[in-house]
Amino acid sequence: MTKKENRTGQVAVIGGGASGMMAAITAAQSGADVLLLEQNDRVGRKILSTGNGKCNYTNLYQADACYHSGNPSFPRKILRQFDVQKTVDFFEQLGISPKNRNGCLYPRSEQASSVLDVLRMECGRLKVRIFTETACTRLLAEKPGFQVQTNTGDFFASKVILAAGSRASSVPGSDGSGYMLAQNLGHRLVPVLPALVQLRCSEKFYPSIAGVRAQGKVSILANRVCVAEEEGELQLTNYGISGIPVFQVSGAAARALYQKRQVTAVLNFLPEMGREELADFLKKRALSRPRKTLEEFFIGLFPKKLCDLWIRLGEFPRNQCVDTLTKAQWKKLFCLIQQFQTTVTQTNAFSQAQVCQGGVDTREVSPETLESLLVPGLYFAGEILDVDGICGGYNLQWAWASGHVAGREAAHA
Ligand SMILES: Cc1cc2nc3c(=O)[nH]c(=O)nc-3n(C[C@H](O)[C@H](O)[C@H](O)COP(=O)(O)OP(=O)(O)OC[C@H]3O[C@@H](n4cnc5c(N)ncnc54)[C@H](O)[C@@H]3O)c2cc1C
Repeated sequence: MTKKENRTGQVAVIGGGASGMMAAITAAQSGADVLLLEQNDRVGRKILSTGNGKCNYTNLYQADACYHSGNPSFPRKILRQFDVQKTVDFFEQLGISPKNRNGCLYPRSEQASSVLDVLRMECGRLKVRIFTETACTRLLAEKPGFQVQTNTGDFFASKVILAAGSRASSVPGSDGSGYMLAQNLGHRLVPVLPALVQLRCSEKFYPSIAGVRAQGKVSILANRVCVAEEEGELQLTNYGISGIPVFQVSGAAARALYQKRQVTAVLNFLPEMGREELADFLKKRALSRPRKTLEEFFIGLFPKKLCDLWIRLGEFPRNQCVDTLTKAQWKKLFCLIQQFQTTVTQTNAFSQAQVCQGGVDTREVSPETLESLLVPGLYFAGEILDVDGICGGYNLQWAWASGHVAGREAAHA
């Protein structure tokens, strides 16, 4: 065989992450001769970081609201072709037994490496030709097929699946170079911004409450209008706010910041009570122990560092007893507990984000086959597209579903 023939396949998949491996496996299962090109020294590195090393690979609860896209009906049309049951069955066949934690599925071994191992083994069994340390630098649509230019020379394929991921995470290879490959072929990008990421705030007091974790609700206001809210365990850091509920609303905050809107996060540390109920509850608590100082009064209710901050911000005298609080002071206290406002100045960097929002504009991609509407024979899969999911296994479900559809279609078309 000549060098050129060695580097020729029916389907070339660019990017050996979750969606690219799924696309390669599906195309090979359909009988195609598949090349998988990965710029890292091994495939699937990001999979190892998922779910804190345990890989939350899908979620039994699915709804349209779990996925975001500038083209809202697009994800559904792909996800219904490869739903959660198909994901579960696919991985069961490869040897992954699911462990269900409130609908989030993990491999029973609780090791993300299990998911990567079975994908790699399946690629091997199906004779997918994997080329690592191979970075695609340019894609040229020829008639017919594609020339795939890389740092190690050119490859040739009848069909190409672009599954190069996004800019999110510090995992090597997450450099967003796939966007440029798509743009060079004429595709437009929806602005790429971090999502599932921490939010940085302007107030100077954050170091004093760093490390605090408290149940609560976070609402994001953009120019004073609520654009997202979520409940769960809030985490306070030395620069701002974090935790799963903050991750869930961070995409909306990033978008509002990008649009140069004023972004405020409102934290409610007792969301299970309405304002009246909170007033009754605290006043009854004060009546039962009227001589407690505010500091003592909060013990057992909220984390100490948080109460110290409220006392400072509310300018309450340290030794003031709760039975001497004025109406105005009570009001101030209710606001600090349930409407704690903080100014969001930016998100953390792409390297800290779990996913990106934005990407290849899905209006230029078939919602049935994931084939480019501009370049016949070019397909997309995974996070490179303008689709992102909330926390809880949804981003991997998108990777599996889109990888499956792109692989199946590229092999058959
Ligand atoms: C810390 C962390 C935890 C996460 N946990 C979860 C979780 O538990 N559940 C969940 O559903 N989601 C989770 N996610 C999100 C999920 O991992 C991603 O959405 C998913 O891996 C995206 O798959 P992908 O195939 O589109 O991209 P990737 O997995 O990023 O794969 C893209 C691949 O393409 C390669 N590549 C890029 N450009 C080129 C090029 N020019 N040439 C050749 N190769 C290239 C990259 O090196 C990479 O290997 C997590 C993400 C992070 C960062």
